[in-house]
Amino acid sequence: MKTINDFDFKDKKALIRVDFNVPLNDALEVTDTTRIEAAKPTIIKVLEDGGSCVLMSHLGRPKAREDEFSLQHIVMSASEILGVQVKFVNDCIGDAVQEAVNALQPGEILLLENLRYHPEEKAGDVAFAEQLAALGDVYVNDAFGTAHRAHASTAVIAQFFPENKCFGNLLASEIVNVNKVLSDGEKPVTAIIGGAKVSSKITIIENILDKIDHLIIGGGMAFTFVKAQGGSIGSSLVEDDKQALALEILDKAKQKNVEVHLPLDCVIADAFSNDANVDVADIGAIPDGWMGLDGGTQTRELFASVILASKTILFNGPIGVFEMPNFAQGTIDTCTAIAEATANGAFSLVGGGDSVAAVKQFDFGDKVSYVSTGGGAMLEMLEGKTLPGIKAILD
Ligand code: AMP
Repeated sequence: MKTINDFDFKDKKALIRVDFNVPLNDALEVTDTTRIEAAKPTIIKVLEDGGSCVLMSHLGRPKAREDEFSLQHIVMSASEILGVQVKFVNDCIGDAVQEAVNALQPGEILLLENLRYHPEEKAGDVAFAEQLAALGDVYVNDAFGTAHRAHASTAVIAQFFPENKCFGNLLASEIVNVNKVLSDGEKPVTAIIGGAKVSSKITIIENILDKIDHLIIGGGMAFTFVKAQGGSIGSSLVEDDKQALALEILDKAKQKNVEVHLPLDCVIADAFSNDANVDVADIGAIPDGWMGLDGGTQTRELFASVILASKTILFNGPIGVFEMPNFAQGTIDTCTAIAEATANGAFSLVGGGDSVAAVKQFDFGDKVSYVSTGGGAMLEMLEGKTLPGIKAILD
């Protein structure tokens, strides 16, 4: 796996695909700089070698050249974070861009305008990718958030750099960390799969069954399993058409000696609201008109004991409706157990959508081993798919 550490960028122009798709407020100011900070080590390495950086990214989903999606809005934040005044050019291809690139000196950074102002970006257009490729000596992909897309700047462009292409620090560490779970996880390996729907997690579960020892199933998706086993789940979230699939998963897990841990009890509510009346019920004995919205005490203790005995932990999907304070305790206790296991030497990866949001919301970000930066990309990695942006560098 070639990374930026295999290159000396002295007097070279690094063409870096970053993921600067950051949230902006109504005044078009950056409200969360995580993604810019995540790209910093790669950019700094190039500058410290004596090279320059040409940064390309998308921002949002513009249908045309709409000002609210201009990367100009992030120049100030990027300059502050990177410690260098970032230059900006108001397109990503064309003569003016080429001139700005030619004028770039070692130690300087040039940010190109939103790639998605050109529909050719998402279409993976080869001619467009070739025009982008003319803007650098080495192609660096550091955009994990879009690595699952076969776009011009994320995948197609790599063919124009047969030798001079590599992963940036961020993308490389995402790959290394997911492999710590999927390829060389120290046993016992535990996957905590929660969240709303079985259907969105099924491919992940099928892919990881060969790699794990324990499967904790939490969140709304647990009720499809409970109902399939004959439990009464009241008006809890359920996917009736996935009941057979749930039983199949339990069967496959048994064949592969994976111990499955379903909730034992749950916090129930008479409405999907933080202000609803609440009670506690055994998982398969929820009265009509009530729904399970979080793990109960026994569930939380069971999940914590499994997590604390694990050496490798994957956390994907919350245990309850953590966005509502009355139903957040299951997710908080799970985070606490993961943090404790990590402090005791386990490796923990938090990846994919809402578990990342939960870990950040409850301040566990620095108490786990790795928090993935890419929602969809991480889900596809866990599903065992080869991401186009990664394949293009490895080819
Ligand atoms: P996902 O994106 O599939 O990981 O689902 C995350 C969502 O699942 C979060 O917004 C949670 O509020 C929701 N969730 C977790 N547990 C439950 C539950 N018992 N009932 C309904 N939604 C839930």
